[in-house]
Amino acid sequence: MTDEKEVKTAWLNFLRAFTRALVQLNLYKPDHPQVVQVLEETISLLTGIIQSSPGGEFTLTLDNDKLIVNGFPLLTADKLPNSLRNMFTRFQVQTVSFLSGVSRDDLRVLCQMQALKGGSREYLKQNGVDKIRLSQAVYTKVPKAAGEAPAGAGANVSAADGSAGTGGGGTGGGQFPGPDAAEPMEEKLAPQDLETAMGTIVAKVTPDAAEQKRITEIVMRKFRAEMEVQISKALTVVRQEKKKVENDIARTEAVVSNLAEGVVVVDKDGKILMMNPQAEAISGRGLTELSGQKIFDVAHLENQVLSLAKEIRSDGTADITRDLVQKGRDDLNAAIKKSTAIIQNEEGKIVGSVSVPTDKTKFREMEQLQQDFIANMTHELRSPLTSIKAALELLARDARAGGDGRNILNTAIRNSERLNSIITDILDFSKLQSGKMVFHPENVPAGDIAKEAAEAMKAWAGSKGLALTVTTGPEVPRVYADKRRTVQILINLISNAIKFTPQGGSIEVGADSGRDTLASFVIFSVKDTGAGINKADQEKIFEKFVQVAAGEKVSGTGLGLAITKAMTVMQGGRIMVESEPGRGSTFRVTIPAYRGQLDTPVFEQLPEAGPARAWWRKLLGI
Ligand code: ADP
Repeated sequence: MTDEKEVKTAWLNFLRAFTRALVQLNLYKPDHPQVVQVLEETISLLTGIIQSSPGGEFTLTLDNDKLIVNGFPLLTADKLPNSLRNMFTRFQVQTVSFLSGVSRDDLRVLCQMQALKGGSREYLKQNGVDKIRLSQAVYTKVPKAAGEAPAGAGANVSAADGSAGTGGGGTGGGQFPGPDAAEPMEEKLAPQDLETAMGTIVAKVTPDAAEQKRITEIVMRKFRAEMEVQISKALTVVRQEKKKVENDIARTEAVVSNLAEGVVVVDKDGKILMMNPQAEAISGRGLTELSGQKIFDVAHLENQVLSLAKEIRSDGTADITRDLVQKGRDDLNAAIKKSTAIIQNEEGKIVGSVSVPTDKTKFREMEQLQQDFIANMTHELRSPLTSIKAALELLARDARAGGDGRNILNTAIRNSERLNSIITDILDFSKLQSGKMVFHPENVPAGDIAKEAAEAMKAWAGSKGLALTVTTGPEVPRVYADKRRTVQILINLISNAIKFTPQGGSIEVGADSGRDTLASFVIFSVKDTGAGINKADQEKIFEKFVQVAAGEKVSGTGLGLAITKAMTVMQGGRIMVESEPGRGSTFRVTIPAYRGQLDTPVFEQLPEAGPARAWWRKLLGI
C-alpha cells in the first residue's frame, strides 16, 4: 500500500466483497461454494488492509450520513448498499472493528448474524468471535483536514450480484435492494401511520434520536407543503370542472324551463330526471313529487310517452320508432314521436329520452276549434250562396211578373259581398300564415284612413240603424303605413262593432296623436255601444278561430281579429281592447307616426319588429 488512493481503493474493494458476503449468506447456506468463495475473497482483502492499518485494527463507522473508515470519511451513507447500512442500524451500533487475526469463520458469523432478528455482541461472543467488535461510538471524530474521499469513492459500493448500485431501487431507500432489507421493512411499515413510518425510515439513516426527530420534522414539513400544493392544484381542476358542469346544468335548465312546451327527461330505466314547469302543469304534479319515479307509473302523463318509455326500458338496441307500442290516437302518436328525442351514448346505446308531451287539452282545444271553423265556414259560405241562388230565382220569377227586382238584386249583392269578405279573410289568413303578406308603407294622413274605412261601412251601419261617425284630433298626424291594409284593419273593427251593436247604437271611429310612451304613434279607435266582451275573453278574441258567445249567434269566421292583430303588429303597431259587458267596447290600434322613414324598409326601422314578428308567427302557428 503505497499511497492514500491505493489504500482507499482497497477499502472499497473490501466493502464490495463484504457486501456480497452479507447478501449471499442471507440467500445460501454457509457451505455453498459461492459463499465459501466470497468469504475467502473478503477475508484476504481484509487481512491485507488490517496489516497496513495503524494498530492492526480496521474500523468502519457509520456517522449520521457518512461511512468513516479508519477515521477517514469514505462515502456518504446514501451510497452504501442496504445490506451494509442495515448492519449498523439493525444492531444499533456505530462502529464495527476488525482486529488482526480475524478469520474467515469470524466473518461468516458476522454475516449470518445479519440474517438474525435479535442479538449482536452476545451472538458473536457465543460463537467465539473476539476479533470483531461492535460498539456504539468508538471512533475518532474526523478532523476537518482529514481530506476528501478519493476518486472512485463517490461510486456506490455495489454488490456482486449486479442488482445493487445506482438505480437499484431498493424498498428501504438504499442502493442495494437485498432481500434482507426489503421484506422486514415492508412488514414493519405497513401498519404504521405516516409519521411513525417516517420515524422508522429515518432511524435507518441515523441512530441519533434528536437528529431523527429533526429529519422527520423536516421531511414531514416538506411532505405537507408538497401535499398542500398538489391538493390545491387538484382542487383547482375539480373546481373548474364543477363550475363547467354547473354552468352546463344551469344553461340546460334555463333552456328547458323556458320552452313553451312541456319537457320530461327520463333516464334509460324510464325514471324521471327533470320536468319543466309546463310538463308539471300537464301532469298536474310537481318535479319534487315525481322525480325518481318511473314515467310509466305516472298515469297523468300521456299514454304515448309511456309507450316510448317502455321502449327505452327494453334492451336499447331496438328501433324505437318502428317498435313503438301505439296507444291512443294515431295523430297524437305522430305528434309525440316527433317531439321525442332519444338520447344515445357514444356507443349508440339508448340512455334516456327527452319528451315534449303534448298538452292534450290544448291539442284537443285546437282540434275542436279547427273542426268548428270548418263547420262554421261551410255554413258561412253556404248561407250567402243559398241566398244569392234564391234571389236569382226570385229575380227570374219577378222578371216574368214584370217587377223591377231592385230589392232582390240588393239582397244578392249584399250576400255576394259577404261571400267576398269571408273569402278575403281566408286568403289574408293563408297569406299571413305563409309569410306572403307584403306591406307597402307610405306617408298617409291618419284622418284619410279613418274616413275611408268609415265610408266603406256607412251603408251597412245605416241599414242596421247605427250612427257611424268619424272624429279626428285637431292636428291629426300622418302615419307611415300600408294604406290599404290599415283601412282594412279599421274595416274589420267597424264590421265587428256593427255586428255586435244592437239597433239604435252608435259607433265612433277616431284618429289621434299618441301621448307619452305612445308619442311616436297615431292611435286609431273604434268605439261601440254594443254587447261588450268579458274580461276573460278579451285576450282570447285575438287568437285564430276564436268566437266568443255574445248573445245571439252572429256570423263570422273567428279569423277577423287574428288577422287584424297580425296586420297591426307587422306594421310595428299594437292592438288593445277595453270593454265591459253590456256597455260597449273600444278597440285601439297604434300605428307608427310618419317621421321621414320613407326610404327605410319597414322591418328595420320599427323597434318592435323583431319580437313582434316572433309573436305573430307564434300566434298564427308559423
Ligand atoms: P269574427 O270574424 O267571427 O267576428 P273575430 O276574430 O273578428 O271573429 O272576433 C272574435 C270574437 O270577438 C267575436 O266572435 C266576438 O265574440 C268578439 N268581438 C269582436 N269584436 C267585438 C265587439 N266590437 N263587440 C263585442 N264582441 C266582439
